[in-house]
Amino acid sequence: MVRFAAVAAELGNTRVPGTGSRPTSHRKRPSKHPVRFTIPRFSASDQGPAASELNRRRFLGALAAATVAGVGAARLVVDPQPRTFAEAPEAQVATSGPTAPAALLPPPPLSARIPLPGGGALTKIPGEGDLLALTVDDGVNSEVVRAYTQFAKDTGIRLTFFVNGIYKSWTENHDMLQPLVDSGQIQLGNHTWSHPDLTTLPKEKIAEQIGRNDQFLKKTYGIGAKPYWRPPYGKRNAVVDAVAADFGYTVPTLWSGSLSDSTVITEDYIVKMADQYFTPQAIVIGHLNHPPVTHVYPRLVEIIRDRNLRTVTLSDVFLKTP
Ligand SMILES: [Zn+2]
Repeated sequence: MVRFAAVAAELGNTRVPGTGSRPTSHRKRPSKHPVRFTIPRFSASDQGPAASELNRRRFLGALAAATVAGVGAARLVVDPQPRTFAEAPEAQVATSGPTAPAALLPPPPLSARIPLPGGGALTKIPGEGDLLALTVDDGVNSEVVRAYTQFAKDTGIRLTFFVNGIYKSWTENHDMLQPLVDSGQIQLGNHTWSHPDLTTLPKEKIAEQIGRNDQFLKKTYGIGAKPYWRPPYGKRNAVVDAVAADFGYTVPTLWSGSLSDSTVITEDYIVKMADQYFTPQAIVIGHLNHPPVTHVYPRLVEIIRDRNLRTVTLSDVFLKTP
């Protein structure tokens, strides 16, 4: 249960100086209203100075309630600001029935995995279903990698990280990330060593970019990322594909939707993109580069829950051989 304190600390600390203008001074303002355990609803009208405070409280409430729903516990005992929960009468806590929030759905059973389609890039999950593959790239900002990993720990969301080994985030967060990699909740894919446009490079340099990152992932996390790789900027050609395939990277993994956060954009725009692209069988791309996305995790969870989507890694979906 210590994790709730960790979440609060996370939410309070993910802002990197100079990269955002999100006000923080209101965060400790006391509230007259206890948090209630109903499914939080977010809308485009959640704006203004009190919005992030409200969202933070909703997130804590939603997480706590999800945990209650998940483990069947009758009481909530931990909160960084005990008054918010302590003041909520027991009767308001919905732990079952139609008003209880649902935890994120588990992945499908291993027996449901399907062969890789083969024959070119993967842009979405084939067939009809309820799956969502959220794939998150780069790792420019170590705090964002940490926050995403904590998000996975807190909610059970399943993610694929496309790693550029050059960023120190991948060694700095190793100890936190390794157990989730080992359990399969977070999958690591190859996104090249330092994120060049591979179509501008000679063969040897393409090979170096893919091979060096492959070795980095093996050495640091003990995993083989094959066959999944993602070309930086989505740029590839026949030569690039052939060099990647020589290493066993036979599945260029693109996407069907994007959170559009490879550069700094607003939190509301990220949510708008999630609303647009979190759809059944989608592969959605996001980035481990800028803090705004770390402020909207509860809103992302809300969308996933409302649509009854099942988050998956690529290995949750596909058998390893085409
Ligand atoms: Zn990238």
